[in-house]
Amino acid sequence: MAEPVRAAMAAAARVLAPVSDTARLDAELLMAHALGCTRDELLLRRLDDAAPDNFVGLVERRQAGEPLAYITGTRDFWTITLGVGPGVLIPRADSETLIEAAVDYFAGSPGPRRILDLGTGPGTLLLAALAEWPKAMGLGIDASAVALEHARANADTLGMAGRTSFRRGDWAADVNERFDLILANPPYVALDEAVGPGVREHEPAEALFAGADGLDDYRRIIPALPGLIAPGGVAIVEIGWRQGESVSALVEAACLSSRIVHDLGQRPRAIVVT
Ligand code: GLN
Repeated sequence: MAEPVRAAMAAAARVLAPVSDTARLDAELLMAHALGCTRDELLLRRLDDAAPDNFVGLVERRQAGEPLAYITGTRDFWTITLGVGPGVLIPRADSETLIEAAVDYFAGSPGPRRILDLGTGPGTLLLAALAEWPKAMGLGIDASAVALEHARANADTLGMAGRTSFRRGDWAADVNERFDLILANPPYVALDEAVGPGVREHEPAEALFAGADGLDDYRRIIPALPGLIAPGGVAIVEIGWRQGESVSALVEAACLSSRIVHDLGQRPRAIVVT
């Protein structure tokens, strides 16, 4: 008889503690995945079940450093769940700062009608924004075909396929229309900068690193914004916490105004450009 779920999760949390800051949570999410149920259901109703055979293998993968979201194939972001896998940047809670800033910006108005997401990855920012404004339409652009496959599948799963289009592109190079809301989480890590455990080994470098100072992609994206923002519209772009001044200077050079918003850890996380 296999050991109960409760004991198997306790053992997994111990094994994962040296490799993960969230060992207990990881163990729970892997168990929920192994059982094919939600974490809530697991904790409320399944703790005394027999642990499924495949759980140990999932824990071993996590122990070897594979990101949790690649093992389970999903990551929650804002109000939605996104399918992810190797080759796409895993959505980070930090990026929810951009959606919050957008919600603040459009508070008291009917909201944006047209939304552009530059470097959409698995559709993260675009689909979260479309969930917020059910009448809005959106365009997601990415240089990666793998990312776009995930983005389209996620739009389908979320019932948003009719409100989205996704296309391969080099930032806004082929975009000839204006948008009420432009979102972007470009790569911004400097080549020699430290990233979290497992990130450099497993996540796509092209979604993370942007030249010697991490600013390469802002130098391409920011100058395009004056031609992309509709009257009354806004662009909200994620930044590294030490990049506020440099990116603000690029915005000023493009004759636009900006302010910085902070994440839950009180660090600069995004720039709001009008
Ligand atoms: N915040 C991410 C990390 O350090 C970087 C994301 C990005 O470059 N856009 O893992």
